[in-house]
Amino acid sequence: MRSGNLGYPRIGRDREWKKALEAFWAGKLEEEAFHAELKAIRLGNLKTQQEQGIEVIPVGDFSYYDQILDTSAMFGLIPSRFGYEGGKVGLSTYYAVARGTREAAASSMTKWFNTNYHYIVPELESTLKPVLTSNRLLEAYREAKQELGIEGRPVLIGLYTFVKLSRGYAPNELESWIDRLLPLYVQVLQELAAEGVQEVQIDEPILSTTLAQEELAIVARIYETLAKEAPGVKLFLQTYFESVDHYEAVVALPVHGIGLDFVHDGGRNLASIKKHGFPADKVLGVGLIDGRGIWKADLHSKLELLNTISQSVASDRIIVQPSNSLLHVPVSAKGELKLDAVLRDALAFADEKLAEIALITKAGNNGIEAVAVELEAASNSRKALEQSPSRARKEVHERIADLASQPSDRTASVEARRRVQQDKWQLPLFPTTTIGSFPQTPEVRRARLKWRKGEWSEEQYETFIKDEIKTWIDIQTELGLDVFVHGEFERNDMVEFFGEKLAGFAFTSNGWVQSYGSRCVKPPIIYGDVEFTAPMTVAETVYAQSLTSKPVKGMLTGPITILNWSFVRDDKSREEVAYQIALALREEIEALEAAGIGMIQVDEPALREGLPLKREQWAAYLKWAVLAFRLSTSTVADETQIHTHMCYSEFNDIIESISALNADVISIETSRSHGELVKSFEDFTYDKGIGLGVYDIHSPRLPSVEEMGSMIDRALRVLDPALFWINPDCGLKTRKYEETVASLRNMVEATEIARQKY
Ligand code: GLN
Ligand code: ZN
Repeated sequence: MRSGNLGYPRIGRDREWKKALEAFWAGKLEEEAFHAELKAIRLGNLKTQQEQGIEVIPVGDFSYYDQILDTSAMFGLIPSRFGYEGGKVGLSTYYAVARGTREAAASSMTKWFNTNYHYIVPELESTLKPVLTSNRLLEAYREAKQELGIEGRPVLIGLYTFVKLSRGYAPNELESWIDRLLPLYVQVLQELAAEGVQEVQIDEPILSTTLAQEELAIVARIYETLAKEAPGVKLFLQTYFESVDHYEAVVALPVHGIGLDFVHDGGRNLASIKKHGFPADKVLGVGLIDGRGIWKADLHSKLELLNTISQSVASDRIIVQPSNSLLHVPVSAKGELKLDAVLRDALAFADEKLAEIALITKAGNNGIEAVAVELEAASNSRKALEQSPSRARKEVHERIADLASQPSDRTASVEARRRVQQDKWQLPLFPTTTIGSFPQTPEVRRARLKWRKGEWSEEQYETFIKDEIKTWIDIQTELGLDVFVHGEFERNDMVEFFGEKLAGFAFTSNGWVQSYGSRCVKPPIIYGDVEFTAPMTVAETVYAQSLTSKPVKGMLTGPITILNWSFVRDDKSREEVAYQIALALREEIEALEAAGIGMIQVDEPALREGLPLKREQWAAYLKWAVLAFRLSTSTVADETQIHTHMCYSEFNDIIESISALNADVISIETSRSHGELVKSFEDFTYDKGIGLGVYDIHSPRLPSVEEMGSMIDRALRVLDPALFWINPDCGLKTRKYEETVASLRNMVEATEIARQKY
């Protein structure tokens, strides 16, 4: 057996990569120095993999921004608005596509399958003429060989995945795009073969989604052509994030090796191997170590699994590897000295995962006795966390065991609730509100920093936050909004804020993961039972409410969003962890209600993000996700109005579940896709309060009263005016004071005009 890797985090041990990119963009780093800095990071990454004992080391997975954009640039697929005139794509064009310029909007970005990584969506305009502008894999291969003597395995995004993820062409043009790009793939491979490259890793994660039979025929045609035209290099076809549905067809493709995910496949890949066997002439990449989670593996069960697989595949045809590129986990857990020792000891980030891979490979080759000591240590680390008091919170366990008796829906119908709520609040037609946050000015951020560093006392910080709240209550009063918010000034991030106050969460010092471009996120770790300890939002909300007779919405992040934006313990199902969070949030909601807060918003922007890759699993996920939301929001009185909020995404196919959340009012970000969103409501009668963002807060210009008026008119063509709310999109925390006030002023004016009309 050999040990292998599929991709390594590019951000650097201390996010040097991010810092270099941003310095270059800011003009503080010359291009030459920038290249040198990135090269150092790149070589360092390769060296680390070598030192960890990895035999199959990927090259070309490193990027200056995003690996999909790299592929577009390699083939000259630069949208025409950037004025690209052929030849090697320079850095300014490359970053223009990624980030936009004054003249041309950036290409859009979207989530990479079901991860939190976002890629730049290729735009396949019909007039583009794809050519190989430069063979970046060849450069990467040469560099690794010359500088470090590493015989790397170049990584290429598979053609089918690439075209499927692209936009800008009609469905019936898909095959013609395949035909246009296929010769370039051949050319890349031929050049690599001529250089002496042994093997190329071709990533086709699209094979882990649900594909139609006709699509498989296209995939087969692609690989037949590559095998025939570029016989000098071995193809290693890599899938990940799920099982492959059409196992027999996939393993029959004319490639040298196939990589399968044995962590996130729900056991289906293993079942397929047992049932159909594995071709004797192929190599199997066994994705054994979780490339997305952060926990040390249970090595005993991994070895058992490997053992089972070796019954169908000869050992010398096995590569032990992560389930997917390690791009999706932080670099190293070594420096996490501030964490509780038991927790720290149970973590495995990229470097620790590589060590696990090397260890399993060693055991596979030399027998389990060869690694007995390490195995014992790893198993003790896991056991210590399993047995820690953080996972033995009795009341949490009791409540989950008794879940069926927990209230999970409002008792009164939505109409009945609406009547009592309206009696109480007497809101006008088209109530106006905002989504929660107001500008986090440099002063706000500076204040938080001073407080965190201990330069400011608790009291000083509190006074500062109160002043901000007061300022914005006054502004909302002056603007004439109907439903107020306190502004979220005390929050850094909508998940971290709650995680820091609930039991069961931990925060690393350096557990960063690339989200998009230079933006990295540091997800909280849910390691223990989640439990409410003390009110989290009551003081600020109650203070805000004390300043006005208008309702102030309490503001929480919902259970599914907290779950989906965290690293989650692996000894319990995500479903169960969601219920734990939900029940903890329920206590916060009850505390707000008891303190006199009559409207409470529970944001769920990440509901859609959690959807499984395979369609047939959607219903099961949505069922427990909806239940989690309702567990947290169902114990309030009829007159307490529950709001929720979601950011823009496709709603069509999950609209029934959104309605099933049974929130009294929902606000949805519409961003630049107002028309599309409105369409979702054409065939579905939404019977609860609803506000569709009437302006895109990110727009650099001040939205006019007329523009917002036409958005309102358009929405009211399909939505019931009696249920319609008026609000901007989310994200005001990123805007400046002046623009926020000016656009809200226009929004209120547009509302007044609409009230006359309807
Ligand atoms: N209440 C949050 C805010 O306004 C919602 C954030 C979001 O939509 N992601 O900042
Ligand atoms: Zn939003």
